[in-house]
Amino acid sequence: MTLDTILEEIKNAEKIVILTHESPDGDAVSSSLSVMHAVAQLGKKADVIIPDYSKDFKFLPGADKILKESDIQKYDLAIAVDCSDLKRLVGAKEYFINAKKTVEIDHHSVNSMYADLNYVDPASPACCQVLIGMFEYFGIDINKELGTCILAGILTDTGGFQYSGVTPETFEFAAELLRKGVNISEICQKVLRNKTKANCELTKLLYDRMEFLENGKIAISYITLEDNKKTNAQIGDDEGLVEIERDIEGVEVAVLLKEKEGANGFKVSLRSKENVNVSDICFLLGGGGHSRAAGCFISGTLEQAKSRILEVIKQEME
Ligand code: 5GP
Ligand code: MN
Repeated sequence: MTLDTILEEIKNAEKIVILTHESPDGDAVSSSLSVMHAVAQLGKKADVIIPDYSKDFKFLPGADKILKESDIQKYDLAIAVDCSDLKRLVGAKEYFINAKKTVEIDHHSVNSMYADLNYVDPASPACCQVLIGMFEYFGIDINKELGTCILAGILTDTGGFQYSGVTPETFEFAAELLRKGVNISEICQKVLRNKTKANCELTKLLYDRMEFLENGKIAISYITLEDNKKTNAQIGDDEGLVEIERDIEGVEVAVLLKEKEGANGFKVSLRSKENVNVSDICFLLGGGGHSRAAGCFISGTLEQAKSRILEVIKQEME
């Protein structure tokens, strides 16, 4: 079974590296740290390499050990978490490609199975939830430190247990973590409720520019590089913006176009409420994600990116 082989590879490896997707969210950072803690219990030290991530996650146990870079040639085993495609390992891909063995652990339904060993469970609302099952199988003690990382990942990817992917097990795991002393209200405050000033400034711009199309079923807005500069926005400061659009009455699909540095185009975030599969839409444009939350990149000007994404959304909504 894949899990037995993964455990064997961890035990056999001397040097292990843990990697995740670009613009890492709470689930990505938390999954990386969770694997680091688990591997430590198996008697191995692993490097976590994340070139840049939001300061919201710096409180997570072990975050002080995260490296921005390391020696590309040195790893026996690379473990990628919460990442559906090799393309998305931006800034970390070289470590993965150069490792002697590769493993990925993920929860995206569209996954290119790019590692030697792929452990993917699309029924889990967060990669951290996939990890719980795996750690139990490995006999890892999910203590307060590890539990804090795991719960932070689950909370961010489920919007605080609110999104449709939540399963009965999510609550059972959360209950178990609370029994172990994990402080849920502190984690919620840090990863869900805390807003930076830049995020507030970007929110104002989001509302100002919001347009409603197709009888109010589509809400669309955008953020430019100039906006990021003016508001002094850092990585993670656009967190939660596209969800504001989705929460509006009558909106089925929320669209946020974010101009991407040095790429001559826009990163598009899509969210849907009930019926539209936004992962399918993004897949058609070379991206992916989940049925209710997905993303892709579209090159060109704002007008070009906007008209392309609207064209595909409208087709999918027919
Ligand atoms: P976000 O809009 O928050 O960047 O991403 C929403 C979801 O879609 C996340 O699960 C994220 O991993 C996935 N996603 C975002 N952009 C891409 C992309 O370009 N390719 C793929 N495969 N998935 C993406
Ligand atoms: Mn995730």
